[in-house]
Amino acid sequence: MTETAPKKETILSGMQPTGALHIGNLEGALRNWVRLQDQYWMYLCIVDWHALTADYEDTSVLKDRVLQMTIDWLAAGLDPDKCALFIQSEVKEHAELHLIFSMLISIPTLTRLPTYLEKKKEGLDSYGFLGYPVLQAADICVYNAHKVPVGKDQEKHIWLAADLARRFNTVYKKVLVEPQVLLTEIPLILGSDNRKMSKSLGNHIPIDFTDKQTEKVIRGYFTDPKKVRKGDPGTPEKCPVYLLHRIYTPEAETEIAPGCRSGELGCVDCKMRLAGNLNAGLEPIRQRRAELVKRPDYVWDVLATGAARARQRAQNVMEKVRSAMKMAYREKKK
Ligand code: SF4
Repeated sequence: MTETAPKKETILSGMQPTGALHIGNLEGALRNWVRLQDQYWMYLCIVDWHALTADYEDTSVLKDRVLQMTIDWLAAGLDPDKCALFIQSEVKEHAELHLIFSMLISIPTLTRLPTYLEKKKEGLDSYGFLGYPVLQAADICVYNAHKVPVGKDQEKHIWLAADLARRFNTVYKKVLVEPQVLLTEIPLILGSDNRKMSKSLGNHIPIDFTDKQTEKVIRGYFTDPKKVRKGDPGTPEKCPVYLLHRIYTPEAETEIAPGCRSGELGCVDCKMRLAGNLNAGLEPIRQRRAELVKRPDYVWDVLATGAARARQRAQNVMEKVRSAMKMAYREKKK
C-alpha cells in the first residue's frame, strides 16, 4: 500500500475488539470493507481505547480479542497490501487530536447525544464515555478521511466529526477534511431469539463455528410463531431464518418464500437447507481462518505494519494541525 499511485479518497472505519466475529459482523461490515478496499485507501482500526469506555477494569481479554478479530478480518478477505489494519492505541496521534477537539465542543452538545442518554441509563457515566464521540471524530480526522462507511443509525456521529473539523478549520486554518457519510446498506441480521445478532446477547453464529455447531444454532432459531407445523402457511418476512436465506440461498425468493407461504415447506427442512448453505458459504473463510490461527506472529506483524502506515499518515496531518495552531514550536520558517 503506497500512496504514490493515482489519487484515491481515504476511508476510515473501525470495530471494538470483541474477539472472534459473527456473521452479523461479516455481513454488516466486513463484506463491505472487502468491496471498498479496491477503490479507497482504507484505514481499519481496532478501537481498543473505545472498548475501555464500557469496561476499563478487565483488560486481560483485550490481547486475544484483538488477535481473533484480526484473524477474522484477514480470513474475510481484507488484504494488508491494500489497507492498513491496526490498533488504535498504537497510533498516539488519535489521543492528541482528541484532546484538541475536546476544546472545540461544549459539554451540553455531548450530553444531548442520544447514545449518551441511552447508555447513561445503563450506568455508563464516565468522562471517557462522555468524550467517546470526540475520540471517534479524532479517529476519523487524524487521517483526513474523506468518507466513513456507516448505516443510517450512525450518521449523526459522522456529522459531529465533520462539525469538529469545520470548527477547527474556522478557528485556526483549513487543514482538516470534513468527513462525509458513505451510506451503507446494512442487511438486517437477526439472532436465534429474533433480536439483533449480538455476542453479548448470546444469539449469534460465530464465523469460527464448526458446521455442526452452526446447524445446532439454526435448529434453535425463532420462526414465524403462526407456522407451527408443516402445512401451516407462514410469513417469511417475519422470520429471521428467511432473512438469512436471502443472503445465503440463491433460491430464497423463488423457492423458500413461496414454500413457506403455501405451507409446503416445513420449518425443520427450511432450517436444514439454510444450515447447509450457510456452512458452504462460510467454508472458504473458515479454511483461511484455520490457517491464520496457526500463524499468530504473522497476524501481529500485519498489525505492526498497519500501525506504521497509519502513524505516518496521522503524523503528517498532526504536523499541519500543530502548525495551524501555531504550536509547532520548532518548525522552521518557510
Ligand atoms: S418455513 Fe422457513 S421461512 Fe417459513 S417460518 Fe419456517 S423457518 Fe421461517
